[in-house]
Amino acid sequence: MSITKNLNQFIDKLPEQVQLVAVSKTKPIEDVQEAYDAGQRVFGENKIQEMTQKWEALPKDIQWHMIGHVQTNKVKYMIPFVSLIHSVDRLKLLKEIEKQAATHNHVIAILLQVKIAREETKYGMPIQEATDLLSGNDLEQYPHIRLKGLMGMASFTDKPEQVAAEFELLESLYLRFRESKNLSILSMGMSGDYESAIAHGSTMIRVGSAIFGARNY
Ligand SMILES: *Cc1c(COP(=O)(O)O)cnc(C)c1O
Repeated sequence: MSITKNLNQFIDKLPEQVQLVAVSKTKPIEDVQEAYDAGQRVFGENKIQEMTQKWEALPKDIQWHMIGHVQTNKVKYMIPFVSLIHSVDRLKLLKEIEKQAATHNHVIAILLQVKIAREETKYGMPIQEATDLLSGNDLEQYPHIRLKGLMGMASFTDKPEQVAAEFELLESLYLRFRESKNLSILSMGMSGDYESAIAHGSTMIRVGSAIFGARNY
């Protein structure tokens, strides 16, 4: 199967309100170019250095989304071009993004990554901390950051009920603050669980292997 074919099949299945982020991490420039030629403009990467190299090499109308864990000392490299950071999971990172965005006179769009998986390995802000942050006015301290929504990853499990319950949890947090915080993006769902995510209100899915094939790490 070719990338173009996979992509077109995928897009045909998607409801109108759901945006596709094509996750190109570990894949070569040529693969991203093929997806670009097929019409895809939004790509997700999980390493800042790799994303920067691809941004330099590829057409400038691509929107680059950071979806992976971000080290604060690397934030500055992506500020000039990143279009959405999905993986903001701690105050220290918010502060660093604010500082670097102010330096560049940019406003950076972000999502709060919330920990919904029961597994211990996943990153994300604990749900109570996220609730507290969204309940108060603390985000006003970051004028160069625009919070657009929430992101979450479900457990890697073959129990569909557990995945559904985790997505439901994030959906309820999103719905609770959607109006007061003017949120418009609920980023959840990957190759293995996007159908469940969409059933629970996802507006943005992050799909890698179903488009580009399995990754060889
Ligand atoms: C790798 C990755 C994806 C895509 O995973 P696939 O299973 O290949 O679709 C989505 N979200 C995040 C945060 C990732 O790191």
